[in-house]
Amino acid sequence: MLVLVHGGAGRVTPESLPEHVAGCGEAATAGLEKLRETGSALDAAQAAVAYLETAPLYNAGTGGSLTADGTLEFDAAVMRGDLAAGAVSGLPPFEHPIDIARMLLDEGGRAGAPVMMGGPGAARWAEARGFVPAGDEMITDRARERLAAWRAGQVGEGWAGGTVGAVAWDGAGSVAAATSTGGTVGKPPGRIGDSPILGAGTWADDRTGACSATGIGEAILRLGLARGVCDRARALGDAQAAADAMLVEFTDRVGGSGGFILVTPDGQVGIARNTATMSHAVARDGAAVVTGH
Ligand code: ASP
Repeated sequence: MLVLVHGGAGRVTPESLPEHVAGCGEAATAGLEKLRETGSALDAAQAAVAYLETAPLYNAGTGGSLTADGTLEFDAAVMRGDLAAGAVSGLPPFEHPIDIARMLLDEGGRAGAPVMMGGPGAARWAEARGFVPAGDEMITDRARERLAAWRAGQVGEGWAGGTVGAVAWDGAGSVAAATSTGGTVGKPPGRIGDSPILGAGTWADDRTGACSATGIGEAILRLGLARGVCDRARALGDAQAAADAMLVEFTDRVGGSGGFILVTPDGQVGIARNTATMSHAVARDGAAVVTGH
């Protein structure tokens, strides 16, 4: 059993890094506890991501990055290794976008049931199921400051970092993935990143593996990164070798900047980034949590 969590690729300052990494450790621990309780890799990945959606330090849920209009538009997805999935994009503020994605997964499989919903329609769908819309209280001073810096041309490509994701392995061949983000700082309203797109930012397949990506969404989308690295892990029989090879392709073919985590159905993990930092942590049954960045 294991849960591997990332807190976003980017450049976290040396002052914030210890707290940023520690949060990933706590999230991985929360995910592992859930895994022990229910035995479900999906429950574990969802719990780990929900933990970080609550923490204002990350670009997901509370503290999420703002659009050019100063609004919150969330993207999130969950996927289970039997190819069940649920995703939301351009979602207005709700405390836990990942839980809405999970409800889409749970209701999926019926004829006509959607896998992915976006914008006001997704909000209505969620409200009809008891989710309570949130408001500007989810916008932090830090998010406002980053938008101001972006407007002043000080945030480079407008990339926040701090997207959160998790992959989990139940110890018996099943995997799951979850990703949640506010997207890039100053994104145009309506822009959809990689995180909610199955096969790009989020992927899980019990035949190959589960992956959650972070970084410039446009590059991740064009490469179909999450599915690609899992397929490669199966072909190579080595998760870290697959991650290393995919990072080269990501950098060279689409000029990508970011990182990703993966776990295979036999419990191997892979971690790669070409950014200055990508906070992460892995919690394994019977072992101490291992963190890194
Ligand atoms: N991948 C996210 C997006 O493009 C941003 C990030 O990971 O920082 O929306």
